[in-house]
Amino acid sequence: MSTSPDTDFPEIRDAVRALCAEFPDEYHRKIDAERGYPEAFVDALTKAGWMAALIPQEYGGSGLGMAEASVIMEEINRSGGNSGACHGQMYVMNAVVRSGSEAQKRQYLPKIAAGELRLQSMGVTEPTTGSDTTKLKTMAVKKDGRWVVNGQKVWISRIQHSDLMILLARTTPLDQVTKRSEGLSCFIVDLKQAIGHGLTVRPIPNMVNHETNELFFDNLELPEDALLGPEGKGFKTLLDGLNAERTLIAAECIGDGYWFIDRAAKYAKERVVFGRPIGQNQGVQFPIADAFIELEAANLMRWKACAQIDAHQNAGAAANMAKYLAAKASWEAANACIQTHGGFGFACEYDVERKFRETRLYQVAPISTNMIFSYVAEHVLGLPRSF
Ligand SMILES: Cc1cc2nc3c(=O)[nH]c(=O)nc-3n(C[C@H](O)[C@H](O)[C@H](O)COP(=O)(O)OP(=O)(O)OC[C@H]3O[C@@H](n4cnc5c(N)ncnc54)[C@H](O)[C@@H]3O)c2cc1C
Repeated sequence: MSTSPDTDFPEIRDAVRALCAEFPDEYHRKIDAERGYPEAFVDALTKAGWMAALIPQEYGGSGLGMAEASVIMEEINRSGGNSGACHGQMYVMNAVVRSGSEAQKRQYLPKIAAGELRLQSMGVTEPTTGSDTTKLKTMAVKKDGRWVVNGQKVWISRIQHSDLMILLARTTPLDQVTKRSEGLSCFIVDLKQAIGHGLTVRPIPNMVNHETNELFFDNLELPEDALLGPEGKGFKTLLDGLNAERTLIAAECIGDGYWFIDRAAKYAKERVVFGRPIGQNQGVQFPIADAFIELEAANLMRWKACAQIDAHQNAGAAANMAKYLAAKASWEAANACIQTHGGFGFACEYDVERKFRETRLYQVAPISTNMIFSYVAEHVLGLPRSF
């Protein structure tokens, strides 16, 4: 059932749907139960070129825009899959496209496009500072032509399924900068070289099948040219990528939302209790209709964010608002879906409980709802800073 009036990019939708159809519910359910990584699925997406959508053609990618990339992510989630296994490849890599030197682009992008390298980890969050990103404590100090990194990160995803990570560290102490967003720098870390040589990784078991880790840096040495973007301007380098991240995740939530609504509507038509389909009862219909309306509205903001990013405009407000609206709409759709399924919503074989867990994450990560409210209050409405 197609619930979206949006007919944009039908060729991309059809092609991604056809690929996803080769990986049915049973595949994703088994991977979830085993807490495994969907290697075959991610490989197929990579080989088909979908993961290289945002890489410019001159570096071996297809040079598509954010709108097209968002459709790819949406379709993965709409098919029952979880883009969380691989979405980092799109938005983390985007930081290299936007901020990398020519040498870095030539070194990494063609190999990422060809599927020889995975760049799908981004190390920002720290245990003692959390959402207060500019206070992060991991330090990178220049010494004898190398960067020496010490500190700790938490919740860093896909480390065990990535070759490279973008790391945000402080290069000038906080008390020596005039603005707290200054003095932070981004680095490209070769994970295979780093692990066991100054970087220790400890997995965090969690509610979803999402590989995420604590990282401990103990005098990790990085080459001088590991710096991504200008020294001290890492927060800006990161922010450019974060708007892409938020917009792509909004699209994933839209995909999840349509999946929940499709499943809820189908089950409501089929399940007969009290001698009639449960979907004939307005008490069952209305939450599904409500969630659909919210989802359609969120989708409009997603397209606005895509358009602004593709036009190289400041997409901060639209990207944050799209992520907020879409995560909320998909969560409402998830609740309507599980309620419609009654007890069967809790049975693994219906996949509702798996998608329910997966979509819940997006009200916390990569940015929690309150931080979006705070951004809009301060940067859009001009209200005084609260922190
Ligand atoms: C599965 C998973 C994967 C992740 N992957 C990554 C990753 O790959 N890379 C990475 O860098 N990070 C990652 N994260 C971290 C994620 O971005 C953070 O969890 C998130 O930004 C919130 O930070 P925190 O957990 O430290 O919460 P805290 O900052 O401790 O906040 C806790 C709660 O308090 C609220 N709060 C805090 N301060 C205020 C305030 N001043 N006003 C109002 N409310 C406030 C927050 O909104 C939140 O709801 C991941 C997290 C999870 C769960």
